[in-house]
Amino acid sequence: MRPRDFVEIKIIDALSEKDQSCPVCRLINESVEKLVDTILYELVNDPQIRSNLRTMGLCKQHAEMIERYLQQHPELGLLGIAIIYEDMLGHELRTLRQPSVEGVGNCYLCDRQTQIEKTYTSSFGRIFSEPQGVELFLQSEAVFCLDHFRKTYQLVDNSMKDRFEEIQVRKLSYLKNQLSIFIEKHDYRNKKPFGKEANVYKLVGRLIAKPVSLDNRRNHKWQIWKNSKER
Ligand SMILES: [Zn+2]
Ligand SMILES: [Zn+2]
Repeated sequence: MRPRDFVEIKIIDALSEKDQSCPVCRLINESVEKLVDTILYELVNDPQIRSNLRTMGLCKQHAEMIERYLQQHPELGLLGIAIIYEDMLGHELRTLRQPSVEGVGNCYLCDRQTQIEKTYTSSFGRIFSEPQGVELFLQSEAVFCLDHFRKTYQLVDNSMKDRFEEIQVRKLSYLKNQLSIFIEKHDYRNKKPFGKEANVYKLVGRLIAKPVSLDNRRNHKWQIWKNSKER
């Protein structure tokens, strides 16, 4: 299949990697890391970025991600992040007495991540709307996480929806079977050693995990608020 743009090149590359994890999660992660790198490398003093970080803040997940990224990339140094956090903390200190507004505009990187996700899922949807495209998924080791399968499925042309689902079901059934094999091997009569199925739980955990998105958090808080009113 011939890629039509840069996003499609990245998607086709991701599908050809020897990696069973969700290709959408992988590409999003890569893009957000790239964004963090760009901010810390050249945009520390960019007024727009600084203002976005001050007003939107960062969620725990992304603060941890930045920390991990800095540990893996010592060449970036720690001056950039110190400047950014000093600025953010200064802003928070001025508004410390105000009650926290849960879930609203909570994280600059989550906000960007949602836009990046839209770009990738719509491109996956376009590729899998063609017979050749969806066959790339069949040949690939990649399995979609449940969240990205559902989001992409909505964007695939009706004529290819069944095929896309069939391939995903086949891949997930294989993983479920691997878990069954692992469980069965725990029988005391079993003599066979554990194999690669012993690690499958890690992949399955990542595939079934729900996303921590602003929308979810917003709904969650809304639910808590609503329940507390109803009681
Ligand atoms: Zn995913
Ligand atoms: Zn975030």
